[in-house]
Amino acid sequence: MKVLKFGGTSVGSAERIKEVAKLIVDGDRKIVVFSAMSGTTNTLVEISDYLYKKNPEGANEVINKLEEAYVGHVNELYETPEYKEKGLEVVHSHFDSIRKYTKDLFTLFEEKVLLAQGELISSALVNFYLQEQGIKSVLIPALSFMRMDKNNDPDPIYIREKLNQQIEQYPEVELFITQGYICRNAYGEIDNLQRGGSDYTASLIGAAIKAKEIQIWTDIDGMHDNDPRVVEKTSPVRHLEFEEAAELAYFGAKILHPTCIQPAKYANIPVRLLNTMDPSAPGTLISNDGSKEKKIKAVAAKENITAIRIKSSRMLLAYGFLRKVFEIFESYETPIDMICTSEVGVSVTIDNTRNLNEILNDLRKYGTVTVDDNMCIICVVGDLSWENVGFEAHALEAMKNIPVRMISFGGSNYNISFLIRNEDKVKALRQLSDYLFNNK
Ligand code: ADP
Ligand code: ASP
Ligand code: MG
Repeated sequence: MKVLKFGGTSVGSAERIKEVAKLIVDGDRKIVVFSAMSGTTNTLVEISDYLYKKNPEGANEVINKLEEAYVGHVNELYETPEYKEKGLEVVHSHFDSIRKYTKDLFTLFEEKVLLAQGELISSALVNFYLQEQGIKSVLIPALSFMRMDKNNDPDPIYIREKLNQQIEQYPEVELFITQGYICRNAYGEIDNLQRGGSDYTASLIGAAIKAKEIQIWTDIDGMHDNDPRVVEKTSPVRHLEFEEAAELAYFGAKILHPTCIQPAKYANIPVRLLNTMDPSAPGTLISNDGSKEKKIKAVAAKENITAIRIKSSRMLLAYGFLRKVFEIFESYETPIDMICTSEVGVSVTIDNTRNLNEILNDLRKYGTVTVDDNMCIICVVGDLSWENVGFEAHALEAMKNIPVRMISFGGSNYNISFLIRNEDKVKALRQLSDYLFNNK
C-alpha cells in the first residue's frame, strides 16, 4: 500500500481537485492525505486572531468571505444538483459551527477546533467528488486514529491499531481518504501537528501501515538545490538520503515539514516528492540506499537565529564546563542548533528565544556572555564526509565576501553550516548556487 499526501495548492481549486482525482485512481491500494485548500488555514488563523481580540464583527466578515469562496468551489466542482447540494451542506454546516465562536468564549481549545475545519472540509469535498465520479473511496477520519501522547509525541501503537482496524473492515476498497494536520491530544481533544504538518501525517500513516512508499505531492518538481523563492536558477535534486532531507527541511526547505522524515526513516520507507502540476516529472526520492554520491546537493536557510557566546578562562583545561552550559538550555527547554567551541569560549545558536533573558542570567554565572540576534543559518547539504577532500573549501569559497559568525562541520557526514546575518541571506544563497551548482 502507498500513502499519498496532497498539499494546499494541489487541492487549491475545483480544477486542481479534479486533476488530483485522476492521479489517485490507478488501481493501486492507497491512503490519500489531504491538506486544507490553499489559504484556508491562514484565514482560519486570521479568524482566531479576531476572536481572541474580541472582535466578532471582524471575524464574521472574514468567515463570510471564506464561506462564499467555498460555495464557489462547490458550484465548480460538482456536475449534478445532488452533489452540489451535498457539497453545500458540508460547507454550510462547517461554517455555521465556525460562526458559533463569534458568540461564545474563545480559548486555545476552540482555536484548535477552528483550525481543524480546513482539512475536514477539503477531505469531505474530495470524497463527494470521487463518489460523483463513481470512484469507490472510504473516508477514514484522522480524528479517529491520529493521537498524540502526554509529551505531544505521536502514539504509534494507538495510531497503528486504530488505523489498521478501519482499513481491515474494507478489504475490497482500494482508495482511502483522510485529513492531514489534525489529530487528538492525549486527553482526546482536537489538536494539530503544527503548521505544514500534513507531511507528518503522511509519514506517520506510512509507518503505521508499513507502506511501500510515501508520496508528498506539491506544486514543485521535488526538492530543489536552493530556495526557489530566493534564487532564480534552481534545479531538482533527484536523490537525497533521509539525513540530508531532514537537514534541509529543518533548515528552511519549506517543501517538507521537518518532522516528516523521522517516522519514514525509522520504518525505512522511501519518500518521494512529486509535482501535481507536472505528474510525470521524476521528482525527488528520499531513501537510504547507501550510495555515496560524492557531491554537494542542496542549500537551505533558516532566519531569525540568535547566537550566544560564553567566554571564560575557567573553561581552559577544565572539564564539566560544557555540561553546565548545556544544562541551562535544557532547564529552559530550549533546543540548541549549532555549537562551536574554542579553549576559552563556546558559541551556540537557538531559534526559540522565549526564555532568552533567564538563560542569559544563568549563563552569566559561568563567564562573559554576548548575544547576536537577527542571524541566519545557511546549511549546505550533501555527501560531506571528511574524506571528500575540498568540499568544505568549495562552500567556504562561495562565502568569502560575507561576514561569517560561526561555521559548523563534522557533526554529521551530511552538512556544513554557516551562521551569518539575516541581511546577507539572499546574497549567500545566490553565491552558493553560483559556485556549487551553476559553475560560475
Ligand atoms: P504544500 O502546500 O503542498 O505543502 P508548501 O508550500 O508547504 O506546499 O511547499 C512547497 C513550496 O516549498 C514550493 O512552492 C517552494 O516555493 C517552497 N520551497 C522552499 N524551499 C524549497 C526547496 N529547496 N525545494 C523545493 N521547494 C522549496
Ligand atoms: N493546512 C495546514 C497548514 O496550512 C497543514 C498543511 O497544509 O500541511 O499549515
Ligand atoms: Mg507544506
